[in-house]
Amino acid sequence: MKRLEKLYEGKAKVLYSTDNPDLLVQYFKDSATAFDGRKKGIIREKGILNNKISSRIFRYLESKGIKTHFVDMPSDREMVVKRLRIIPIEVVVRNIAAGSLSKRMGVDEGAPLKNTIIEFYYKSDPLGDPMINEYHIKAFGLAEKAELKQMEDSALKVNKYLSEFFDERGIILVDFKLEFGVHRGEVLLGDEITPDGCRLWDKETKEKMDKDRFRRDLGKVEEAYREVLKKVME
Ligand code: UDP
Repeated sequence: MKRLEKLYEGKAKVLYSTDNPDLLVQYFKDSATAFDGRKKGIIREKGILNNKISSRIFRYLESKGIKTHFVDMPSDREMVVKRLRIIPIEVVVRNIAAGSLSKRMGVDEGAPLKNTIIEFYYKSDPLGDPMINEYHIKAFGLAEKAELKQMEDSALKVNKYLSEFFDERGIILVDFKLEFGVHRGEVLLGDEITPDGCRLWDKETKEKMDKDRFRRDLGKVEEAYREVLKKVME
């Protein structure tokens, strides 16, 4: 699959058109950002690690019947995906309190939750991705009712299957962010599933194996991503 025109360059990936109008190439970069882009850095070989991790996870989710944009991984940094009309909503799923939830609710990181929490954020860099709810989504026409239902159903299934997947590999899936888009009338899981957008803790030591190592200057960032890749390939 040949990369043609650069369509979009984001913080961690570049999107290219291809000779097939239905397919794009996602190119994974090593750059890392946090706090709405105010912190910038490089995580060596992150692009390669994340492409491999995400490809493995998309393949696993597809095997469980979840529809994703994943098509193929033709090289270390490239993923062929179906072209999506991105729905401008970030879906966050939480199993354990951490990050912004701990801050907002004044609870310790690691505090258990009585049930899984789903949150929605409006995908807008200039606004810093504000939190929204179903009423905002409807009022601003960000997604159709049926699309939102499919996103929620898919997010809960992803949570069930991925929690099991990581648990079998000695990792706790604390929380994660998903993005969805529409391809030929179908809602598909898009973007990537990597330690950039998931909180992953070692089950025994509770050590962080995700982007919090970069956000909080904990060191051994590349090593943690490499360990996640090793575990997901088991
Ligand atoms: N997340 C993300 N992109 C964002 C915001 C959050 O991938 O723009 C992920 C983040 O890595 C974590 C989960 O969503 O796994 C919940 O993040 P949270 O709301 O706690 O925000 P943070 O503490 O990352 O600012």
